Amino acid sequence: MNWLQIARERKEELLTELQQLIQIESVLDEEGASEDMPFGKGPLDALNFMLKSGEAAGMQVKNVDQMAGHIEMGEGQELLGILCHVDVVPVGAGWTYPPFEGRIVDGKLFGRGAIDDKGPTMAAWLAMKMVKDSGIPLTKRVRMIIGTDEESGFRCVERYFEKEEMPTIGFAPDADFPLINAEKGIAHLIFSQKNKPSADEALLSFAAGKRTNMVPDVAEAKLATISQQGATNFQKFLLENEAEGSLISEGNEYIITVKGKSAHAMEPEKGLNAAVLLAKFLTTELTGSGLAFVQFIADVFGKDHFGTALQLNYRDEMSGETTLNPGIIKFDANGGVIEVSMRYAVTYSFEEKMTSVQQLLLKTDFTLDVASNSAPHHVPEDDELVQTLVGVYQKYTNDFSKVLSTGGGTYARVLNKGVAFGMLFPGEADVAHQKDEFVDIDNLITAAAIYAEAIAKLASK
Ligand SMILES: [Zn+2]
Repeated sequence: MNWLQIARERKEELLTELQQLIQIESVLDEEGASEDMPFGKGPLDALNFMLKSGEAAGMQVKNVDQMAGHIEMGEGQELLGILCHVDVVPVGAGWTYPPFEGRIVDGKLFGRGAIDDKGPTMAAWLAMKMVKDSGIPLTKRVRMIIGTDEESGFRCVERYFEKEEMPTIGFAPDADFPLINAEKGIAHLIFSQKNKPSADEALLSFAAGKRTNMVPDVAEAKLATISQQGATNFQKFLLENEAEGSLISEGNEYIITVKGKSAHAMEPEKGLNAAVLLAKFLTTELTGSGLAFVQFIADVFGKDHFGTALQLNYRDEMSGETTLNPGIIKFDANGGVIEVSMRYAVTYSFEEKMTSVQQLLLKTDFTLDVASNSAPHHVPEDDELVQTLVGVYQKYTNDFSKVLSTGGGTYARVLNKGVAFGMLFPGEADVAHQKDEFVDIDNLITAAAIYAEAIAKLASK
């Protein structure tokens, strides 16, 4: 089969269906949500659009509680899953082209969801139709599973897999080519101060960050007093650290602000944590609980991103370093709390490490709670699934880059044995969640050919 040629011949069909899907404003609408529309009207309309298209192509379709659904073809015991989502993030400002139109300019199709994940969904959908129309006998069932809440918490697939069969193998076209086979574990850790501050504490409050998955770009502390040299030392500190900030007095308070640089928690080294910076400065200004709080931050998060001070550090070959991002940092009359997003390597001994940290913390003013933990996800590189998908990708691209690992979670982690497979090609700008999101039309067609050959290879034998 010349899948590339077939995909090219069906380009109009691909683009028309993608435009129709983009025109459905499938942003989560909690206020408009009801039992019949659990995520609002848009996400449900987008799901129904796909299921109708599946029916028209003569395939089996199923709607699971208006939250997710599937389109299935083929026969056999085993099931190949293709996991996609049709919900999109809100539009935001600054678009050159209408976000819900699907306008084509210079070989690119623009619109919210073009690359995340409506374009890849449509490439995979055309691939399924191409395989069906080819008449190749399938020995596995092939099922496209369509979620409508990927962007806000995976409630769609959680419900889906409570009720429906887990695929034997699968892939999610919702990330990068060549393929992501290793995803770090993601844990939400909370460090809390044991002792309440005394009434004559100099540190009144400290606040930075709203989400654990971002590096805080601004931090603010309020102090009842500062040292005589405080203001001068602060200016010196800013200069030394090439940082911006301010110190002002208001009533009987001193307000100190420091600016950093935001980044995603999976790559804390790309940002500059404003809270850590401010804490470092305050170690020379405070005593008592306030000092214990800022000293802990400076010691644990100020030297590296790996948690070395608490012996949390660990790396492995396939997924790299374990990293910690203190994303929400607070101090008030109840003491200090530091909420951390931890991204740990695939072979990390999580339980063991947590127990030993808790032991280590006994001697300090802090306790540790694990608020949530999502285990790492991994399919070995020499597994047939990975080998087959990478082989197909290489055939169409002549690109022999290594398989990837990520500290972020992809949609594939809900599959027992699944990987993220495209459709962002190496070197392409990642415009997901940004203004003027687009998909390159040639890449869309190549991806459809890759997915078609992958389905044919994995589901027939
Ligand atoms: Zn996505």
